[in-house]
Amino acid sequence: MRPLIIPFFIPHAGCPHTCLFCDQRTISGEQTLLPTPERIRVTVQQWLERSPGRPAEVAFYGGSFTLLPRSVQAGLLGAVQPLIRAGQVDGIRLSTRPDALDADTLQFLIQHQVQTVEIGVQSLDDEVLQRATRGHSARQSIEAIQRVVAAGFRVGAQLLPGLPGDNQDTALASLCGVIGAGAQFLRIYPAVVLSGTGLAGLYQRGSYQPPDFEQGVKICARLLHAAYQADRPVIRIGLQADQGLTPGKTILAGCWHPALGQLVKGELYHDLVMQLSGQLNNSADSVVYCNARRFSEVRGHGQRNLQRWRQAGLGITTVLGDSSLEGDQLRLETIKQKITGSIITTLFY
Ligand code: SF4
Repeated sequence: MRPLIIPFFIPHAGCPHTCLFCDQRTISGEQTLLPTPERIRVTVQQWLERSPGRPAEVAFYGGSFTLLPRSVQAGLLGAVQPLIRAGQVDGIRLSTRPDALDADTLQFLIQHQVQTVEIGVQSLDDEVLQRATRGHSARQSIEAIQRVVAAGFRVGAQLLPGLPGDNQDTALASLCGVIGAGAQFLRIYPAVVLSGTGLAGLYQRGSYQPPDFEQGVKICARLLHAAYQADRPVIRIGLQADQGLTPGKTILAGCWHPALGQLVKGELYHDLVMQLSGQLNNSADSVVYCNARRFSEVRGHGQRNLQRWRQAGLGITTVLGDSSLEGDQLRLETIKQKITGSIITTLFY
């Protein structure tokens, strides 16, 4: 059963940095200060009542948790300990920077029942990191992942493709690098220009253009495909719609959509059908079959894939379900031919 993740945002708290792309107060949608122990307790109870019986984790996101004063960290983590002892919460997860995870910090997190650490890697290209004023190197990220894995934590890596100086190849190399270092799961947030950030200044002066929607979807699809092939889950693609984000207002440019994850997965099915169709003698009156759980991704958001296949000259009439197919598979079928493929093992880039 998927764990229930109960999030608390600590916007920009503890972070002395000003990364070029970051406006944590906008991203988190919260202007409040740190959650009090009472608020943590009440919020957890409310979440547990809405989803009884599921394993639960408390998550501290936003900012750089391990750069908070140690007493503040202890207060937040301490507020969760009675819930863990009572068996209501199974563990704690938090996000932080690669250069804020030394051995002493990891020992402190172990003592406070933290099980999962999500590391904001963003890129493993030193020039990209430097231009984004991250204040740490790619080597520090690799070493942090290795150190945190060795200490027994479950480790996630957050990547931010499309920053100044980044491209599809460097983004892909970053993904392969964090997986090689031991990251067990990933988050992918294609670069968006948030108002009030350093990136917004560059964009408004014409010095930077983030990947647009179509470019961003394609880059994310390549990264997702590589993650699938390495058997690493991608637990999030794109910033969440409820995080105080409004296109044209807080989001000035970049690849953002409330259903970006679905769009990116759909891109893989789109590309697989395009590749399989090359093996058909004639695509007239062809049908795509997939596992019914994947209908929306295979058809594409707003039927986008069906439309694009037709625009490309394929005679695909519809998408139908076939429970014998795995979620990653689909079959392209005409009266005379049947071709089955997988977005993981058949699709290639
Ligand atoms: S380290 Fe994280 S919270 Fe701090 S400025 Fe950079 S992205 Fe924002």
